[in-house]
Amino acid sequence: MQSDHFDIVIQGGTLLTMSAKMEIIEDAVVGIKDGRIALVDKNRNLPAPKIIDADGCLVLPGLINTHTHLPMVCFRGMADDLPLMDWLTKHIFPAEARFVNKKMVYDGSMLAMAEMILSGTTTFCDGYFFENQIAEAVQACGMRAVVSQGFADFATPDNPKFEKMMAAAERFVARWQSCAPMITPAFFCHSPYTCSPQTLVNVKAAAREAGILYLTHLLENKDEIDTIEKRYGKKPVWHLFDLGVLDHQTIAVHCNWLGPEDIAIFADLGVRVSHNPASSMKLAAGVAPVPQMLERGIAVGLGTDGSASNNALDMFREMDTAAKIHKVTMLDPTAMNAQTVLCMATIGGARVLGLDNLIGSIEAGKQADIIVVDMNQPHLTPIYNPYSQLVYAARGADVKTSIINGKIIMEERRLQTIDLTQTMDNVRKIVSHITAEIISDTGRSLPFPVPLSG
Ligand SMILES: [Zn+2]
Repeated sequence: MQSDHFDIVIQGGTLLTMSAKMEIIEDAVVGIKDGRIALVDKNRNLPAPKIIDADGCLVLPGLINTHTHLPMVCFRGMADDLPLMDWLTKHIFPAEARFVNKKMVYDGSMLAMAEMILSGTTTFCDGYFFENQIAEAVQACGMRAVVSQGFADFATPDNPKFEKMMAAAERFVARWQSCAPMITPAFFCHSPYTCSPQTLVNVKAAAREAGILYLTHLLENKDEIDTIEKRYGKKPVWHLFDLGVLDHQTIAVHCNWLGPEDIAIFADLGVRVSHNPASSMKLAAGVAPVPQMLERGIAVGLGTDGSASNNALDMFREMDTAAKIHKVTMLDPTAMNAQTVLCMATIGGARVLGLDNLIGSIEAGKQADIIVVDMNQPHLTPIYNPYSQLVYAARGADVKTSIINGKIIMEERRLQTIDLTQTMDNVRKIVSHITAEIISDTGRSLPFPVPLSG
């Protein structure tokens, strides 16, 4: 075989394909050419300009984080141990109104992506403000992302004039639509309680027109049911159903209070779900009925949510939490097994983002988004079941090498596209300015939380 047949060959190790057959290949070989997986086989030595030795490693699809808000790394640890509505209205919304700007969004996104790449994530779905800057950061570091421009019925940091939001969002889509599938634009309505029916409907109409995904937080905590019932006389899912915004291009985030009737609606309409267990545990918001959703065939992916409510972007931590939270909630240790959770973090996440024909499993023809996990470590020895080992014992820091779209983005734990020292320094400077302002305003010193309003 010609040495130019492949650009990169991953040689050796155990390959978890995460394909429909869930094939596991010992002593595997993966050939990558022009960004795609060109060959998946076993027991072969192939020549290539770049050989990655995966002996003693697990090779698997890159992890997919279906919901986050990257720039919120700048608010990590700012306001913890609070109820959802206090956290949002007294801390996060005021902090966003005051401190979120283009530079903060770009620098924060770079730091968040460094953290994600170093812990095995290759694709994520973001929803925030200044998404142009997030998309630019994604382009600079070579990750794959769905970037969703945020909407709410108040002046957002990137567009103080609400009536101009849609025009700006349409320009954003026009700018990035040709970059798919590396960068896929989408729209993100913050929630049914911060977006009016008109906003929810108008944004969905624009999303349909552009053929893009439409995201919203939904049923994060129990109070949301009362709020929406009081305002509109119906439960949140019926409210969205009657507005006509639920379909297979809609991703509902959280869904902690989804009832059996709601699950039936989601299953019928093909609504997709992002499950964010750690954030919901921390805010004591609730637990999504994920086993029941999966049983009905609903596409469910895993997400971390933003760093201000998690507080990490490590999908290995999220997988461990997801595998355990349903067991204790249902008092049933069989409620969610490790293999199901790893599916949610890979091919399930790809399905949620509508990218499952391209990523989420290691099969010839798919884009080469692959991670190599170093199992030659005390906490990962021995291995009876690779799925269990990854979900219950592995950590993000065990990911050795990461390939996105056929390019090595991290090799032997070294980031190839991000200057980590500079990136951390940039965010530290932003945060020192934020803390100085809060201290000067409130006369209170660290540690926070110090309410910025209310
Ligand atoms: Zn969120």
